[in-house]
Amino acid sequence: MSICNFRCNYCYLAQRPESYQGVQPEMKYSPEQVAKALSKKRLGGPAYINVCADGETLLTRDIEIYMRRLAEEGHYIEFVTNCTITPVLQKFLAWDKELLAHLEFKCSFHYLELKKRNMLELFARNVNSIWAAGASANVEITPSDELIPYIDEVKEFSLKNFGALPHITIARDDRTKGIEILSKLPKDEYYKIWGQFDSQMFDYKKKIFGKRQEEFCYAGIWSANINLCTGMARPCYCGRSLGDVFANPESDFPTFPVGKCSIAHCYNGHSFLTFGNIPYSTKITFADIRNRVRADGREWLNAKLKRFFSTQLYQSNDELSDVEKFDFMLRNKFNLP
Ligand code: SF4
Ligand code: SF4
Repeated sequence: MSICNFRCNYCYLAQRPESYQGVQPEMKYSPEQVAKALSKKRLGGPAYINVCADGETLLTRDIEIYMRRLAEEGHYIEFVTNCTITPVLQKFLAWDKELLAHLEFKCSFHYLELKKRNMLELFARNVNSIWAAGASANVEITPSDELIPYIDEVKEFSLKNFGALPHITIARDDRTKGIEILSKLPKDEYYKIWGQFDSQMFDYKKKIFGKRQEEFCYAGIWSANINLCTGMARPCYCGRSLGDVFANPESDFPTFPVGKCSIAHCYNGHSFLTFGNIPYSTKITFADIRNRVRADGREWLNAKLKRFFSTQLYQSNDELSDVEKFDFMLRNKFNLP
């Protein structure tokens, strides 16, 4: 879904002219069918589900209904949004308290777009309405060279409105073979400038950015990257197709691990790796990546969601033996079933 009300200059999603479609997708499956296919029973327990469109996620038709059905299943939803589509946001915030405790909004803080469109106050109001309703919110900035002159005012605005500085991600340039940093600055300078936000997310992404992951990865057994419109799934950003995982909800959920990662680096390892797709690769948890403690002691994540985000996948899933891992590696290498 590529519709968006913004046009961020660093957008690596559908706002690039070559991929902008501006149309609503055809949803092959209803919210009930999706929830059945992703039932807690079929997945073996509650899951963390990150939801992100190619445009502004809140503009996807009926998205709130899909999310409510998944939260009712007992899953934890992380919803990526620019947090400016207030009427749809309000539909989420009208959920029962129990469901709101399972919901987190990753509020992308597009400072320059918000400033240009006179929407900064609206954004701050919406973020605060999420906390007031009992859900969790996390404020995150995609660094861009154009934003550097505004860093002081970004900090001041954040401390005043969110009680803490935003987390910082690393903008990537998908056009490059090595998926490099999207900036004209030398790496050291880039890290120094954006390091001043003291963001655990940024610090962790820095550690893994550009580093090929060599250990056995359970993506494809412990994680899946699913197209909500079609049900087609892959383990993450690589690995073989798992097929349409919504088509036969009575059967076991299809799995096949990646084993050896084939891409230049795990650019969203701040979730895949902190949740433990490669067991024991880091002690940093996803809660560390998302949470901030405000000056007044309140936290960005509610207690229940924080507890769930503090766990790693090997604590609740069986690991494979060395023989099984070797077998999967061979089958992957020679493309065997
Ligand atoms: S809000 Fe997100 S999807 Fe929309 S233009 Fe900005 S980065 Fe792209
Ligand atoms: S390291 Fe990351 S990108 Fe590579 S297989 Fe694992 S989850 Fe996927």
